[in-house]
Amino acid sequence: TKTILLKQRPVGSPTLSDFELRTTETEMNLATGEMLLESTYISVDPYLRGRMSDAKSYVAPFEVGKPLHSGVVAKVINSQHNNFKEGDFVSGMLDWKTKQISNGDGLLKVDGEKAPLSAYLGILGMTGLTAYLGLTQIGKPKAGETLVVSGAAGAVGSVVGQIGKILGLKVIGIAGTDEKVTMLTSEFGFDHAINYNSTDDMVAALKTACPNGVDIYFDNVGGPISDAVLFNINQFARIINCGAISVYNNTEVPKSISVQPFLVKNSALMQGFIVSNYAEKFPEAMKQLSIWLGEGKLTYTETVVDGFENTPQAFLDLFDGKNKGKMIVKV
Ligand code: NDP
Repeated sequence: TKTILLKQRPVGSPTLSDFELRTTETEMNLATGEMLLESTYISVDPYLRGRMSDAKSYVAPFEVGKPLHSGVVAKVINSQHNNFKEGDFVSGMLDWKTKQISNGDGLLKVDGEKAPLSAYLGILGMTGLTAYLGLTQIGKPKAGETLVVSGAAGAVGSVVGQIGKILGLKVIGIAGTDEKVTMLTSEFGFDHAINYNSTDDMVAALKTACPNGVDIYFDNVGGPISDAVLFNINQFARIINCGAISVYNNTEVPKSISVQPFLVKNSALMQGFIVSNYAEKFPEAMKQLSIWLGEGKLTYTETVVDGFENTPQAFLDLFDGKNKGKMIVKV
């Protein structure tokens, strides 16, 4: 069994030296109610950066010297559990291990016939739920409104924009390369997309792209990109603070414009969003996402990195924008 552990807490941007790969004998002895799992796909996510530090947050930090964990799809290869049999696939929060024993707590059976197994870590998993619930619960979209999405070519952002189109919004995406910008308009139906790396004046670019102003801002990145969007918000705008990847590796409090005047004068709502607070709405959201997927109204892309050993690098690559859509490791 191979395991990836947190070797030390990163300072600033994480590096490969913060992780350790360990190989041990596979534990094979199952007690009643346990099963042996073999990992198939591992999800790497920006929020894991927060768990690598010991600052207080909404979820406990990883422990130094212990395995990291995240969303994993795994195959049951041996079972003493009543609800799971050999050959089943499960999805849930599991350790970064090639093989592990589980008692099934928190695991859901997933069906590879209904959707590709990796989809349960993306569009039919945490990032799809985040996109749907963040946009609908806080964004409260009304047809005809203008939605801006940052991190638009990523796992959450690419789904937010498509749902916006399904709901009749005008959708503008912000992403970091020309290739991503083209993908957003040609494959995902965004009305317009802006490459923040090649745009000097984001405030002006957004003004041009959103002549009627911004009614909903789905924020995945924070920092100066978000400041530029706030310059363009309309009265009663809704701002969904889903993530702030541009500042996750900061070691100092970032200098940012003061957003309060924009919120005050526009009577705008800015609200933090954590998907796990909406668990009672997961079944309804999953159902809607599956329907749209089945109808071909929703599509998705993935960046699949091969090999368990490459999990830390895949995680680091999120901060360099190497992924299009959901970043996944194929074990
Ligand atoms: P993504 O698939 O969007 O991957 C991260 C992307 O962020 C990269 O591809 C990169 O794209 C962009 N990025 C990296 N660094 C910067 C930067 N400095 N400035 C601007 N963009 C940057 O990840 P997810 O879809 O999984 O997550 C998106 C956001 O949503 C994250 O902030 C994450 O923490 C948050 N999230 C929050 C949840 C919640 O419950 N609140 C749940 C899930 C995710 P590019 O090339 O465009 O720069």
